[in-house]
Amino acid sequence: MANRLLITGGAGFIGSHTCVVLLEQGYELVVLDSFDNSSPVASERVRELSGSQALHVLKGDIRNAETVNQAFRCRGPIDGVIHFAGLKAVGESVANPLLYWDVNLNGSRVLAAAMEQRSCRTLVFSSTATVYGEPEQFPLREDSPTAPIHPYAQTKVAVEQMLQALCRQKNWRVASLRYFNPVGAHPSGRIGEDPLGIPNNLFPFITQVAAGRRSHLRIFGSDYPTPDGTGIRDYLHVMDLAEAHSATISHLLKQDPCTHLTLNIGTGRGLSVLEVVRGFEQATGLTIPFEVVERRPGDVPRLEACPDQAEMTLGWRAKHSLLEMCRDGWTWQQANPTGYRSAA
Ligand code: NAD
Ligand code: UDP
Repeated sequence: MANRLLITGGAGFIGSHTCVVLLEQGYELVVLDSFDNSSPVASERVRELSGSQALHVLKGDIRNAETVNQAFRCRGPIDGVIHFAGLKAVGESVANPLLYWDVNLNGSRVLAAAMEQRSCRTLVFSSTATVYGEPEQFPLREDSPTAPIHPYAQTKVAVEQMLQALCRQKNWRVASLRYFNPVGAHPSGRIGEDPLGIPNNLFPFITQVAAGRRSHLRIFGSDYPTPDGTGIRDYLHVMDLAEAHSATISHLLKQDPCTHLTLNIGTGRGLSVLEVVRGFEQATGLTIPFEVVERRPGDVPRLEACPDQAEMTLGWRAKHSLLEMCRDGWTWQQANPTGYRSAA
């Protein structure tokens, strides 16, 4: 019988792409999402892309225990959970730390309590490369020290620690995946990243400049200690990240109790802002006007994963190139100029 999974935040950017991959592999999915930062249209398109109807969507907040219990009851026993739901804007977390502790930590606690009550003890958690703070040694391995510098990353470290304790004391099987910078979209252009308002992140900003929605890109700083002076990140295609989730849950479901994995999920190849701009121009034949402005507060010069542990544990490695990330992100932007609102 097919495994049934609960996917919190499954209508969001990474969640929706992961749902396509999991449905294609025969899982039955229950998505619990508040739609605070996503649209139900994403889940409709996930069904269309996967050709599967085994996707059940519930609107609700992970902080509400009754809602979470309802998600566990709605179809039958849940074999494992992939927990994407949360808030992710660094600046907002500095401005409103209580909200971040509430949604990210308290939400995860409510979810974990409901799981424990049902003896559903297998979980994949969305962590982040920002747990490493401002590291000096590269590439980053999982045993590099965590040193979070803002509330967003602090909440992620706290949840990782809570889950580690559950593995030790309560026989859980958990993987905390520390994502680097997921970008791009499903190659069909039917689902993709749909930020509300002005994008914080580099990739959606570039695609909106390309589409004429914004006049030019502002590059935050060209005086970093990097070869061209602009910040370096490890960008990975969101479809590679989706595959990493499917590899992780299938691995965890076969493990003995008391398994705790912490894995970096990146390509291992850092790219500067200027390299991304040039790559996008090459992939699309367009020109991206930019100006260099001051550094953005809180930005670190460089983040770059060592992906070896993920490959050794899961047999997973990122496959897609920068060209594919740019091409697929641009296909999504062109087909959906105002994101899922274009579908109305
Ligand atoms: P997203 O905002 O697109 O998806 C998160 C989903 O969670 C959204 O659909 C949102 O509506 C939902 N949600 C938010 N609060 C909720 C709540 N209280 N109850 C129920 N649902 C709620 O973000 P994403 O980029 O897909 O990120 C998914 C996860 O990965 C997040 O936990 C994020 O912190 C983490 N992450 C993202 C990145 C990135 O660059 N995108 C990098 C590292 C880690
Ligand atoms: N960046 C930029 N202009 C933008 C958005 C981002 O120059 O409009 C830079 C940013 O300073 C960083 C890189 O692009 O060096 C990636 O930023 P993003 O916000 O996408 O990811 P994060 O900083 O969260 O890793």
